[in-house]
Amino acid sequence: MTKIIDGKALAAKIRQELAEEIGALSARYESKPGLAVIQVGADPASSIYVRNKKRACEEAGIVSFGYDLPAEVSQSELLELIETLNNDERVNGILCQLPVPDHIDEFTILSAIDPAKDVDGFHPVNVGLLSIGHDCLVSCTPAGVLEMMHAYDLPIEGQRCVVIGRSNIVGKPVAQLMLKEHATVTIAHSRTKNLPALCREADILIAAIGRAGFVTTDFVKPGATVIDVGINRNEEGKVVGDVAFDEVSKVAGAITPVPGGVGPMTIAMLLKNTVKAWRKANGIIE
Ligand code: NAD
Repeated sequence: MTKIIDGKALAAKIRQELAEEIGALSARYESKPGLAVIQVGADPASSIYVRNKKRACEEAGIVSFGYDLPAEVSQSELLELIETLNNDERVNGILCQLPVPDHIDEFTILSAIDPAKDVDGFHPVNVGLLSIGHDCLVSCTPAGVLEMMHAYDLPIEGQRCVVIGRSNIVGKPVAQLMLKEHATVTIAHSRTKNLPALCREADILIAAIGRAGFVTTDFVKPGATVIDVGINRNEEGKVVGDVAFDEVSKVAGAITPVPGGVGPMTIAMLLKNTVKAWRKANGIIE
């Protein structure tokens, strides 16, 4: 029987647990975690993500500070805001919703965020710490993938893992996490040869490509764990993953659906990172 990994239910459980943790600790320490969410411009998809993040914060007892900047804001004005937030004790996490407009250099912005407040885990310091297997703020989608695999007791150690996709926000960090958990990891990408055959070697197949239904049964070893990070719209406008769920779910040992798989976990991990940063800033170790 294929296990369907219910990210929606798991994320709800984590958010509930975080709300309880924050409720108990904030009373005792007279402090509340705070998250600053910066949006530059009014990209409709970004606006939905930002709204969902703010709402999730409020439900969990995290104070959210919203900064909606016009698309024409200069890079130096944005850097000034980040500097102010870096020095604001009420703010434990800072995220700048991507993408930013073309006149702003993404790397410069991400590098300006205090690594201790970098709840998206995109700062080069956190990326470097992850690559040497050190404790750090890990980017939310990869952290969500790992959390799901742990919650469902899916084996990682000693397993062959193939990650399709080498982006800085998903492919590379999820590969680092799998390596840290002692999997044998291969990162595949658009120039990889014989991709289906390579993927068929995988005990764990992670798809982070951005192409609807790209991963078919031809890519999947029977019994493998298949994690679908993709969020795409098909011709009918329906949200679908990178994996052809209907056929692959008949072959996989465990699989994440889209929607309701990795997506909800990403926000839960953002809240978790914010609480982690808040605890550290306030010396809360209990
Ligand atoms: P990206 O475009 O930055 O990277 C895509 C990767 O896929 C690239 O490394 C590329 O080499 C690889 N690729 C493209 N075509 C390929 C092919 N034909 N064969 C093999 N590899 C190929 O995308 P991203 O930001 O990593 O996002 C990937 C997907 O995950 C998107 O659908 C995105 O919407 C989704 N996503 C979901 C979440 C979430 O919370 N669930 C978070 C981030 C991204």
